[in-house]
Parts: sequence; structure tokens; C-alpha cells
Amino acid sequence: MKVIVTGGAGFIGSNFVFYMLKKHPDYEIICLDSLTYAGNLSTLKDVMDNPNFKFVKLDIRDREGVYKLFEEEKPDVVVNFAAESHVDRSIENPEIFLETNIIGTSVLMDACRKYGIKRFHQVSTDEVYGDLPLDRPDLFFHEDTPLHTSSPYSSSKASADLLVGAYGRTFNLPVTISRCSNNYGPYQFPEKLIPLMIQRALNNEKLPVYGDGKNVRDWLYVEDHCKAIDLILENGKPGEVYNIGGHNEMANIDIVKLICDYLDKPYSLIEHVTDRKGHDRRYAIDPEKIHNELGWLPETMFKDGIKKTIQWYLDNKDWWENIISGDYQNYYDEMYGKK
Ligand code: NAD
Repeated sequence: MKVIVTGGAGFIGSNFVFYMLKKHPDYEIICLDSLTYAGNLSTLKDVMDNPNFKFVKLDIRDREGVYKLFEEEKPDVVVNFAAESHVDRSIENPEIFLETNIIGTSVLMDACRKYGIKRFHQVSTDEVYGDLPLDRPDLFFHEDTPLHTSSPYSSSKASADLLVGAYGRTFNLPVTISRCSNNYGPYQFPEKLIPLMIQRALNNEKLPVYGDGKNVRDWLYVEDHCKAIDLILENGKPGEVYNIGGHNEMANIDIVKLICDYLDKPYSLIEHVTDRKGHDRRYAIDPEKIHNELGWLPETMFKDGIKKTIQWYLDNKDWWENIISGDYQNYYDEMYGKK
């Protein structure tokens, strides 16, 4: 089995590459990534010499390049993680989100149509469903919840989901979609909540929390997400959407306090800042379908996963210190103030 993993130099994609190489030693994994600010080749250094792994620097919007790669490699499966993924950046500059997340996805599916494929899997997000009110803990997102997006990021992901469904129906492309809640774990780019707070707390810097910090997210350890996608590739039905979530809802402010507790830092570092525009209040996934149909259940309890994650950032300072220099530094300074 030959699998193209797009966006495999990013957070979830790289964890998926590691998971698949370990779980399926007979698979060939090709990582296709254009190495934007969020992609990091050093993340993949431990697998670069693996004979079953290959890295190709390529943009999913590059139709000619993508077709050439498909012609040469004849992949069986494509798993599309490649995306612009940061909501704040999508508010600053939506265009690149439309180009990569929508156009890029259609280029990949056109290549799948042209060269044939056993499965195209689109990695999507619970953010396509919009948000839920904080005072209705009984409500959850189901696979048939209408798409109702808030940010340019989630709108671009929802647009891609609609296109994937259309390619399935119109061209009989064997597609599946998974919509996952917030992931955390090793190799997450330090602009996202958990790694951002860990590294700022370690440097005794202010911990910027949007608004009242009561926005609720449903957190899943990244390896549990990878396992769910692998199950969908093996036993999921073409044309289907699967929600993935850990029933682990936490308010942002509580996550930040927990990080302070683990790192023995005072809550006085926490600073409430102007709320994000259009900030979604609560995301909550109902993962019944993937549990009932594919037997998936999350294996990592949040209290264990967050400890492992914090320890990983403590043990791998070089990785994130390198990242928060150079190009990223300008953006980081603009968003969170100069150090
Ligand atoms: P990330 O930003 O860490 O990684 C994205 C990767 O895609 C990077 O390696 C980047 O270089 C690559 N990329 C971007 N544009 C590209 C292009 N045009 N061509 C080729 N490669 C390109 O993102 P992530 O957090 O790992 O998310 C991966 C996927 O999972 C995304 O599709 C995202 O929407 C989805 N998702 C993320 C979460 C989460 O909590 N992080 C939750 C649900 C779904």
C-alpha cells in the first residue's frame, strides 16, 4: 500500500506519518509538503532514513507537480492534512486559506481522478459546524449537523468538505471525511493555545487569553486522531463523514491554569486580551458513529496526555526555540508583543 500524506511536516500530519510507519511496516509513506511557516523538516528527521518513507517538497496547488508525482508514484491512498490551519491568520489574510484549503484540495482530487485511487481522505475539523451555546451542555455536533462556519479558516475547510462530497457523488471518487476536535500533543506549532502557553510560561512571559477565557474546546490527544484516521482508511465506507472527538471539554482558561500548575507558574502571568473576532463559544463532538461502526475510542486520558505533552516541550526545547525564530518571529512579535 502506498500512501501520500499531504501536510506531513506539520503537527498532525507528522504524527500520522510516525503512526503509520510503526503500525504498517509494509506500507510506503510519501510525505508531500510545501514547508510553509508551519511545516518543519526537522520534525521528520527520525524517519528520513526509513526506506519506506519519502519526503517530497511540493505545493498542493501546483497541478503540474502534483500530477507528475501521481504519475510516478501511483499512490493507493491520499490523506490530505495540508492546510492553512490557524484561525487568527485567516482573519488577517483569508486568501491563502481559500487557495490552499479549497483549490489545493480540488487539485489533489483531480489527480486522484486522473490516475485512479483506492481512497481520498480529507482531514477536516469540528469548526465546520460553527459553535454551540455554553448553556446547552446537552447539545453536540453530529455528522448531519448543518455546516455553519464562523471564520475564514472554518469556511475554507467547510468549502473543501462540500467539494469532497461533490467529487464522491459526481465522479464516484472513493472519498471519506473526518471532522476532528482540537488536537494536542508533540510537534504542534507554538502559535496554537497549548504549546504557546507552555513556551511562554517557561519564559515567564504573559499568557494572553482571549476574552473571558470561557470558550470551550473538546481536546483529543493527537495519536488518538491518527488511529481514528487509520481505521477509517481500513474500514470506513466511501462517501461517509466521521466525527472524531474525545468527550473532553475544557474552557481555555482552565487549560492555561492547568499548564501553570504543572509548570509551577503563578496565575498572575495570565492576561485577558481583546476577544478574537467571531470567536466560537463551544465545540463538542458526538463520536458515536465512529465508535459504533469502526470500534474507535480515544485511549489517552487528558490528564495523562497533557502531562506527556508538557514533558515533550520541556525535553524538546531546541525544536520549538528554532521555530520561534526567523520568519515566524515577526508574526509572533506582532501578535503577542516583542520579548
Ligand atoms: P499545521 O499547520 O501544523 O500543518 C499544516 C501542514 O500543511 C504544514 O506542514 C504545511 O507546510 C503544510 N501545507 C500548508 N499549505 C500547503 C500547501 N499549499 N501545499 C503543501 N503543503 C502545505 O496543521 P495541523 O494542526 O497539523 O492540521 C492538519 C490538518 O488537520 C488541517 O487540515 C486542519 O484543518 C486539520 N485539523 C486540525 C486540528 C487541530 O487541532 N490542529 C483539528 C481538526 C482538524
